[in-house]
Order: sequence, then structure tokens, then C-alpha cells
Amino acid sequence: MTDKSVAVCEGTTSVVPNAHQNESGALAPEPCFSLMRPTPRARVQAMKEYHPPLGSRDALRLDFNENTLACSPKVREVLGAISASSLTRYPEREPVEAIVAAHLGLAAAQVALTNGVDEAIHVLFEAFLEAGDELLLPVPTYTMYEIYASATDASVVAVRAADDLQFPFECLLATITPCTKVIAIANPNSPSGSAATRAQLIEIASRAPQAVLLVDEAYFHFHGETLMDLIGVVPNLMVARTFSKAYGLAGLRLGLLAGPVELMRWVRRVLSPYSVNSLALACLPPALEDASYLDWYVGEVLAARAEFEAALDQAGVRRWPSRANFVLVEIGAQHAEFARLMRAAGVLVRDRSSDPGCDGSVRITVGTREQMRQATVALNETLSRLKLWVPQPAP
Ligand code: PMP
Repeated sequence: MTDKSVAVCEGTTSVVPNAHQNESGALAPEPCFSLMRPTPRARVQAMKEYHPPLGSRDALRLDFNENTLACSPKVREVLGAISASSLTRYPEREPVEAIVAAHLGLAAAQVALTNGVDEAIHVLFEAFLEAGDELLLPVPTYTMYEIYASATDASVVAVRAADDLQFPFECLLATITPCTKVIAIANPNSPSGSAATRAQLIEIASRAPQAVLLVDEAYFHFHGETLMDLIGVVPNLMVARTFSKAYGLAGLRLGLLAGPVELMRWVRRVLSPYSVNSLALACLPPALEDASYLDWYVGEVLAARAEFEAALDQAGVRRWPSRANFVLVEIGAQHAEFARLMRAAGVLVRDRSSDPGCDGSVRITVGTREQMRQATVALNETLSRLKLWVPQPAP
């Protein structure tokens, strides 16, 4: 029996328009191509291209908010022991999903591993957004929300933060409509570093029961506050986490999405069962187990952030308070030259000037104290070269 929805074409004959002799002298059909070309969906044609500057990064990487040092040595050990024959198998994700779920105090059916949080965002939007729906986004925020939304038929409703770049709570609440289908909130947010409170997020979830509230906790470890304990309690809440930041596994592409079983069921329909590779799956349990490495790295970054913020204040650079492993600073009209000179001094930073409300701003990832001392030297030299700051003689 054939599935009725699948067209079956048997015994089709094709007309060969022409024939020419190939190298072996045999007659081969000559291809005949029309001038017609396949066109993508209108929404895809209207999408912006996005090329984050991932090339030539052999320097101090303060540009992508990654771990700037290394993953846990226990993960390295597991990676080193992976056999060639194990690579010949397709990855089996369920046992690892069960481990992660137990680690988070959730049921396995409430958690899906993904190819980075990016895939979680992608599949969530694919599962829930269609024509007439609205994705509600506080901006500035993580670029990929808008990119993935623009591939769907839904519209993006952006709620702009005020100058202080704090979470625009009241404004966001006022913008919820019956068409709001997904609300995506990075908490803490990038590039601002600001955070919404737990009470605010719960209020948003309760005011938009028709919408999925996605709380993207990519920077959770540097902030310490979570809504993960409300998975299954708040019926429309989903939480994403990444292993790209504190855990230092950005290259493995590993993230997770947690949510109530009823919502996860729809997400899993869209999610590929093969998208998390076996190296990532093998590395996840040792990464979770090595809590002391994670605590050490997070502690190092928080200490470095405090030192670096003090250095910025001393240099008179305007900055926004940060709850994450980066600081957004206002450089002004010379933002691009600043980023160029920092690169020349061996420190990569990210120009965020084109983000809404971020004119003249640059985002600087926070690494270890030693790395940030090196960054501070480069920063002071660059500011003084741009005549943005003249070093003060010691009193
Ligand atoms: N969410 C936020 C808020 C981010 O800033 C980033 C990366 N910069 C991501 C998600 C992407 O995470 P992943 O590497 O797991 O795809």
C-alpha cells in the first residue's frame, strides 16, 4: 500500500532531446536547462543575510561571550577517549536527555537537547509561529530571534528599551495582543546585560496564556536566577540553556529546551532526532558532573567583571550594569575605529552600534582576571590613541 499523500511515479519515460559522444565514445544525453529557476518563499527572499564575524579570531576572544579559556578537564578526557568505531553510529540522545533532566530536577519528557540554543529557538518558532501571529521581543536583544522569526510567516513586534537598556516590562505588557504567540526574552539579555525579575516574567506568562514565553537563560550561570523550577508549573513557560558559555563548549553546539510535556511534544515533531552529535552527547555528562570547574570559572568571571567595571569607570567610559559575562560600553562616534585598534592590540571586541538603542556601543566579553587586565591595558591605550581618555598621572 502506498501512502495516498505521496505521489508515485512509475515507468515514466523521459525524452532525451539530444545526444553527444562522451569521453569513452558512448552516446550520452545532452543536458537541456531552461532559464527558469526555483524561487524560495517570499519571506525567505526578504530575509537579511547574517554573517557574524567568526573569521580570524586568533587573539584574546572578547567578542562572542564564549568561555575564554577552556572546558572542564574531565570533558577533555572523555573527548580523548572517543573511539573511531563509536563515531560510525548515529547519536542516541534519550539517555543523555534523561541525565540532563535529572540534573535540572525535571522529567525527561520535559527536556530536549538541541544543536545549541539556536536550534531550540528555530524549532520553537517553526512549531508555533504562523501567518497572523506575532513574536514579541524586547530590543535590543539576541539577533537570532529576529532571523528565525523572519523565516516564518509571523510578524515581529519589537519593544524598544529606554536609554538605560533595562528590561521594558510595562511597555512589553502593554504590547501583548491576542495575536501574540511567542514572547522571547533573553535573561540576562545580550547585548545590554540587563535582566528581568522573576516576578516580571511570571506576570508576562500569566498575561499571555495564548503565547509561549521563551526565557533564554544562556547566561544563567553568571546571573544565578532562573525560572527552570517553574517548568510544568507555569503552563506556557519554556526555558532554554546553553553549554556554549560558562561550560566552554561553544564548538560542540549544545543547548537545551525545557517546557511542559504538552508543549515539548509539538517541538519534538519539528526537532531532528539526529541534530545533537555524539561528541556533544558524550561530553555533556562530565560537563554537568564537574561542578567545581564550572563554579571556579564563573567565580573567576564575576571577579574579573567587577575589576573590569572599575577600570572602565576610572577611564570614564559609560557602561551599562551587567548580569552576564560581558559589558556593553559606549564609545561614541569612533566605535568602529575603537574595535579595529583593539583588534590590532590583540583583543577582539564586538561592535554593537547597529543594535536598536546601542548607537556608538561596543560589547566586551569578560574572561579571567588575567585576561581582563591585558584587555584593560589595550583599552586604555586605545582610548588614549583616540583621544577619548588621557591617562591621569598617579597622585
Ligand atoms: N541566546 C543568547 C541570549 C545568546 O547570546 C546566544 C549566543 N551568543 C545564544 C542564545 C546562542 O547559544 P548557542 O551557542 O547555544 O546556540
